[in-house]
Amino acid sequence: MTQQSHPAAEEHHPAAAQDAALLRDAGLRVTAPRLAVLSAVRAGDHATVDDIATRVRARLGTVSTQAVYDVLGALHAAGLARRIEPAGSPARYEARVGDNHHHLVCRSCGAVADVDCATGRVPCLEPSSAGGFVVDEAEVTYWGTCPSCLSPHERKAIA
Ligand SMILES: [Zn+2]
Ligand SMILES: [Zn+2]
Repeated sequence: MTQQSHPAAEEHHPAAAQDAALLRDAGLRVTAPRLAVLSAVRAGDHATVDDIATRVRARLGTVSTQAVYDVLGALHAAGLARRIEPAGSPARYEARVGDNHHHLVCRSCGAVADVDCATGRVPCLEPSSAGGFVVDEAEVTYWGTCPSCLSPHERKAIA
């Protein structure tokens, strides 16, 4: 990967300066690819790796998909990006981390929407039997049909 360094870029873009501070606070070196991936994750709404790679390339030119995966892995490990993997759809990344929110997923088009956790704390659900496991997280996926995939008739029925 070619690493273009634009020392002045941070000063002209407050968001980039904020992202750079986030990277530094997480103990990651600030690089152009990391800044571009972090901003793409933030801009996307539960973006797939393909979505993120497209945005990153629009900003930096040629960047391999593997490089994007590597950066996403580092951001995820550092707690700056959350990865969700709804069954049957590619992994998606988001910058909304640390609030234990859950997701609504459309069976028809794969749209993903956030839903706040009912209790706000992990684990927000207690299993009926933990079988000796120490539970530290419960992740809920609500499956259904999004508003744009509902037929007008179905939409009327729930209105
Ligand atoms: Zn849908
Ligand atoms: Zn989310």
